[in-house]
Amino acid sequence: MTAEPLTSEITTTDPVPMLQDMIRFASVNPPGGEGPCVRYVEDILRSAGVECVLTGVDPERPNLVARLRGRGAAPPLLMHAHVDVVPVEGQDWSHPPFDGELRDGHVWGRGAIDMKGGLAMMLSAILRFRTEGIEPPGDVVLAVSPDEEAGSAVGAAHLVAERAELFAGVRHAIGEDGGAVFTCGDRRTYPIVVAEKRACWQRVTLRGPGGHASRQGRSGTAMGRLATLLTAVHDRRMPAHITPAVDLLLAELAANSDEPLAGRFRALREDPAATVPFDLLSEPDAVFLDSILRNTVNATIVRTSDKINVLPSTITVDLDGRILPGDWTVADYQDELRGLIGDHEFEVLVEGERMPAPQLGSFYELLTDVLREADPAGLPLPMLMTASTDARLFASLGIACYGWLPLRVPPGARYQDTMHAADERVPVDALRFGADCVHRMVERYR
Ligand SMILES: [Zn+2]
Repeated sequence: MTAEPLTSEITTTDPVPMLQDMIRFASVNPPGGEGPCVRYVEDILRSAGVECVLTGVDPERPNLVARLRGRGAAPPLLMHAHVDVVPVEGQDWSHPPFDGELRDGHVWGRGAIDMKGGLAMMLSAILRFRTEGIEPPGDVVLAVSPDEEAGSAVGAAHLVAERAELFAGVRHAIGEDGGAVFTCGDRRTYPIVVAEKRACWQRVTLRGPGGHASRQGRSGTAMGRLATLLTAVHDRRMPAHITPAVDLLLAELAANSDEPLAGRFRALREDPAATVPFDLLSEPDAVFLDSILRNTVNATIVRTSDKINVLPSTITVDLDGRILPGDWTVADYQDELRGLIGDHEFEVLVEGERMPAPQLGSFYELLTDVLREADPAGLPLPMLMTASTDARLFASLGIACYGWLPLRVPPGARYQDTMHAADERVPVDALRFGADCVHRMVERYR
């Protein structure tokens, strides 16, 4: 069964010019102002005959939910993307961040990776079905949201709380890969994010005797406690636990690495307390692996008096904690944290939504099959992300969410490291490769 081709209404199916256009909407959050970029996407889809719904709590910051009708041979499939971007202040860019420049084979600008590039791939895949006059097996639902970078309250959280009916019947979703990269020798790797850690942001209050700072030697001061706490957080780790996603990742890494590294990956699978191979991996890879093996904590904000001659009696320390996926509760996390830094007055500031255990079944197989066919030399790797995305919200609707926006880049290239940083950019070949993969995946989804 074929649909009426609509080529006359579609000016391009190439993701590159669409990404350039979207970068030029400086949808920096805060404050957001994503409306013009969302409406740009809506215009493209409407003129291609795709049904569109705008919904939101703030007319300047709408969500778009578009539906490309399928032929009823598969359940509806969700693609979700956000169009807000993080600020560029204080960063040293060699190209203007909001010009969408095409230079040296790259599209440059804020959002190229996170994640207007991914949205351009999704749009390209949808438009190709229209220009080729072919209906996809099932409906393709594209959710384009504001506010992912600042809590998602007016974005995906609104969609799942108020417009869940738009996602009825959806079983699987793809969204941003989030930069969970890992190198493996000279192989090109493709992350498939199957699980995310969730936030547990807390404030600890430290107390002790205060007084005039001209006298030295008091015991049990808040500053003394701060030193102990920061040293523990920096030098020590909470215990390691192997979760299903990490177990599969270690198995793939062991099977595709040379000795002695392969043996170290096997050792970690058998005994998570084994030493992370900081000696054999690049530091970014080792830090990433260390972080997905366990619950983590970093001290990020310290507040106290601003008087130099006063010994403060109260200090607060904000801790960015991240909890492994699965059945972990905040209480479980705090038990482990006490083992690291001792007992304290903890105040939970933010608790992220819990995501279910990852599914590594037929949809995961489809994602790896598409990658293996598109790049036989590449290595798809299951990933646990250290941070969370809007996937955590769509997962609450019972949708199995995967971070899968493939970029074919040279082995070891770390374009994802430019997200939230200066000179964010994406190679045009990588973008077109990704659009092709998304299109193939939709064609084969059942
Ligand atoms: Zn993002």
